[in-house]
Amino acid sequence: MLNAEQALILKPLLEELIERSAPDERRSHDPVDLVWNYQDPCDQEVVALITSCLAYGRVSLLKRAVAQVLAPMGHHPAEFLRTFKPADLPELYDGFVYRMSRAADIADLLAGIAHVILKHGSLEQAYRHHGGLSHTEAASELVRAVRAARLRSDMARGLAYLLPDPRDGSSCKRLHLFFRWVTRGPDGIDLGIWTAVSPADLIMPLDTHTSRLCRYIGLTDRSTVDAKMALEVTDSLRLLDPDDPLRYDFALCHLGISGRCIHRRSAEHCPGCPIEGVCTL
Ligand code: SF4
Repeated sequence: MLNAEQALILKPLLEELIERSAPDERRSHDPVDLVWNYQDPCDQEVVALITSCLAYGRVSLLKRAVAQVLAPMGHHPAEFLRTFKPADLPELYDGFVYRMSRAADIADLLAGIAHVILKHGSLEQAYRHHGGLSHTEAASELVRAVRAARLRSDMARGLAYLLPDPRDGSSCKRLHLFFRWVTRGPDGIDLGIWTAVSPADLIMPLDTHTSRLCRYIGLTDRSTVDAKMALEVTDSLRLLDPDDPLRYDFALCHLGISGRCIHRRSAEHCPGCPIEGVCTL
């Protein structure tokens, strides 16, 4: 965990990292790019959740998989889910495979989202339904509501992987990415379509790659990538920006996605890296 003195040193370096991260160029290499293809916030939140659930593996491959899921839903996925019969979903996605995810997992996920938006009007309204709870608890309730409306009677591992419950203790990178996308902004990357969550309450979407970077620059001392590490990293980032701790996430994440950081010291990659001065690798 960072201390106040370290935060003062790190902040200008991360600000420079943001300035040099070329978000306009980098967005096409990020899954959030798919969400910007839609204009209606009702569609954007649905597409954001579907996209974030599948945001694992290589970006080019996951974008293709998400496009396959979205194609039958047309220009208005929220309206599609409100009107399409859930029981027909498995046949619609018959044959779909993306790494660990299968057609039945997608059908479960979409049936769950459909149920929630029909019941509450939108995913945001469903989240608001648990307004008295902490962000983690309300996020967990939203996940549980989607999962509960699945088509299969048993909770399949495939659906649990797509949509993990933050109360289970994992880092829930993709779920926290969803909340970042709909809450922060709009800034050309994040969409800023929700007001139910404050950007100050967001939790860092940590995966193996970003967690390593966070360790290099002292945002955490923990070794296991889990909810505790995500909270510690977020607390460190709050020392830099209490109102918007996740403003550094996109730039940090794209150090890895762009191939700039290869997670070892390199005469080719490290010189000129904005955080080289504080990188302990
Ligand atoms: S200094 Fe090198 S190892 Fe450290 S974050 Fe930058 S590119 Fe990665």
